Amino acid sequence: MFDFESELVKKREAGLYRKRRVIASAQSVHSVVDGQHLLSFCSNDYLGLASHPEIKKAFIHAVEHYGVGSGSAHLISGHSQLHHDCEQRLAEFTGRDRALLFSNGYMANLAIASALVGRKDIVFQDKLNHASLIDAAKLSGAKFRRYRHNDIAQLETQLQGSQEYPHKLLMTDGVFSMDGDCADMQKISRLCLDYDAYCMVDDAHGFGVLGERGGGLLQAQGLTQQQVPVLMATLGKAAGTAGAFVAGSAGLIETLIQQARPYIYTTAAPPAIAAATLRSLDIIEKENWRREKLAELIQYLRQALSNLDYDLMPSTTPIQPIVIGDNNRALEMSERLLQRGFLVTAIRPPTVPVGSARLRITLSAEHGKADIDLLLKGLVDASE
Ligand SMILES: *Cc1c(COP(=O)(O)O)cnc(C)c1O
Repeated sequence: MFDFESELVKKREAGLYRKRRVIASAQSVHSVVDGQHLLSFCSNDYLGLASHPEIKKAFIHAVEHYGVGSGSAHLISGHSQLHHDCEQRLAEFTGRDRALLFSNGYMANLAIASALVGRKDIVFQDKLNHASLIDAAKLSGAKFRRYRHNDIAQLETQLQGSQEYPHKLLMTDGVFSMDGDCADMQKISRLCLDYDAYCMVDDAHGFGVLGERGGGLLQAQGLTQQQVPVLMATLGKAAGTAGAFVAGSAGLIETLIQQARPYIYTTAAPPAIAAATLRSLDIIEKENWRREKLAELIQYLRQALSNLDYDLMPSTTPIQPIVIGDNNRALEMSERLLQRGFLVTAIRPPTVPVGSARLRITLSAEHGKADIDLLLKGLVDASE
């Protein structure tokens, strides 16, 4: 039978035990966590939109009109006008033919792989990809190959050796969620075109943050639907709402609707979320100052950390990890920061490779330079 207790004890001893903290305030850089007021550096609400008054108003207004639950799956009677409008807006926003909404990013990734490839096919992924992409490849039943992080040469070798597979799907994080660096989509998409592989990017951490109008990594790197045919991004991070979408050709979107089981067999998200996302997209597009402020804060933090002799990761995004290495040491640092009023989570395996436990600092446009100064002082104190 299951021996839950001894397995849980082993996890605790290895410094791998995970704990949920109870948040008793609105999502903000100022949070009440387990009853304590904290300055938070670990949310993915990069643009500070999760509690934006106009987005809240759009959500509440939609609830008044549409109620809360969607009642059923999109293919039964759950596909509201608001979902429909939001999909059209997302397609325009990303410069793709069509877009399809999902309740969350994990399921969107499962849907993409399971609809596009099967047992006879092959999937290629970066080793540092998000867990949902790895699970998606496994669920699809396709042959699964992983290349070293950002190692384009190894990817090419793998593609060369895989010409016999009928369908080849490349899946990569756009911005790597635990490192903060970016995939070189110019090179990857070029290789995919050369070797007849279908190219997919998960832009969970780039959408809203990168690109001139917040269109994400592909907008920043100037890549079209022809070059990267599958764009997936989540809406619970920079967009400040919830859910995810896939954008691409009409053929791709219609194929997902017809074939993707993680799309078909689940209840549609509440329509009010789509209304909130619609409002959020307007703000993302117009309020460039949020991206400019983030860029300034990122530079400020990096400069200060390097002055303090911390090793920086090659990240130009709001994800700025400090690698500690040992699991228990990372936990201890996080705990000491907590005692000093800072919420910075320790990220441990299997989320990151063994031996690279880290403090994952994330910045938000809601932070100020004074907040960063406080954090740096906290870090120095916590290290002593
Ligand atoms: C957060 C995340 C997801 C999952 O999205 P959810 O909407 O939270 O399920 C997928 N991919 C990446 C890279 C992520 O960071």
